[in-house]
Amino acid sequence: MMRTPLVVGNWKMNGRLADARALANAVVEQTAGFAAVERAVCPPFVHLPAVSETLAGTDVGLGAQNCADTPPGAHTGEVAAEMLSDLGVGYVILGHSERRQFDHEEEAGIAARYAQALEQGLRPILCVGESLEVREAGATDRLVADQITGVLDRLGAQGLGDGVIAYEPIWAIGTGLTATADQAQAVHASIRALLARHIGQAADKVRIIYGGSMKAANAQALLAQPDVDGGLIGGASLKAEEFAAICAAAARG
Ligand code: PEP
Repeated sequence: MMRTPLVVGNWKMNGRLADARALANAVVEQTAGFAAVERAVCPPFVHLPAVSETLAGTDVGLGAQNCADTPPGAHTGEVAAEMLSDLGVGYVILGHSERRQFDHEEEAGIAARYAQALEQGLRPILCVGESLEVREAGATDRLVADQITGVLDRLGAQGLGDGVIAYEPIWAIGTGLTATADQAQAVHASIRALLARHIGQAADKVRIIYGGSMKAANAQALLAQPDVDGGLIGGASLKAEEFAAICAAAARG
């Protein structure tokens, strides 16, 4: 297979400390049979040290849900990429639609966070995706291209080649609505074509994962698409059995 499938759990702002440890343990146990799938979980910042300990010595990776757009310094409430790196964090979700909507994150700032992540050796997972209005106006591909070129403009082609792109239609996040396999494949293919225009053949190596109400019951159809290389999982990642079932579907491709 050209690309190793990647399944990432986005735990968002859920759970107490003991829940985070227990869930991380359960993910290790229940996904152990899917070593061919790269797996990672992204707990809230304050649970990272405990989950890092739980995951030590396993092949389940650790991710954060954001990082600051500057190196360490005077920015109250932010967490710098190098602090994450000290905790054994390997991935960082950037530009999630909830942060774009509720925290007013925009392209330039997201690109700056992306640059910080790369500088510290973290693998950025850049979230892109359209609202229902944009989809109905037929402007999905253009919007997604703008979101990606926001990063390209700042970092150049190399930056994108080192990251992961998560296509997450906003109308499918936490709503129970999922893009059909055909809808997802169409956008993923258009993202790969955009990448190929900028980075040539290296575009074939970039994982483009899908997010938006993915769960055990719909994962197989989505993951069987040629350009769907894994999943970013919100709600269903809070149950280890669901997360493991999605990993199983990713292993089958
Ligand atoms: C997400 O927010 O990244 C996500 C995909 O959420 P859900 O799976 O709950 O739709």
